[in-house]
Amino acid sequence: MILFELRCANDHHFEGWFRDNAGFDAQSAAGEIACPLCGDTQVGKAIMAPRLNKATGQSLDAQGAAQEMRRLLGDLRQKIEQHCEYVGGSFADEARKIHYGDVEARPIYGEASNEQAAELEEEGIAVGRIPWLREN
Ligand SMILES: [Zn+2]
Repeated sequence: MILFELRCANDHHFEGWFRDNAGFDAQSAAGEIACPLCGDTQVGKAIMAPRLNKATGQSLDAQGAAQEMRRLLGDLRQKIEQHCEYVGGSFADEARKIHYGDVEARPIYGEASNEQAAELEEEGIAVGRIPWLREN
């Protein structure tokens, strides 16, 4: 079965399931496909719009957005790596030292557990968390 987005001569859009492409052509030629809004039988295929993939619940747009998100996160990661000092697992300690003025303030990045990040936030220390994507 195949789902087509259809359009009548009055520019109403609707959807119809067909056995295959030829099935649509045959039914269309026989005037068996009528617009549910106006009953027009001059029905053609409309440009396929991005639609929900019923299996994953993700629209094609969402997949595109996910790709775009990966790209942006990749860019962000690059910028952070260029401009910030990597402090690895001692991120929470370093962030605390910077916050309390024990060391010179500088942009840092590193890893922190969820507990550590929550503690920092409780102390009013501003930390940002981003998903750190592995290189492909
Ligand atoms: Zn119509």
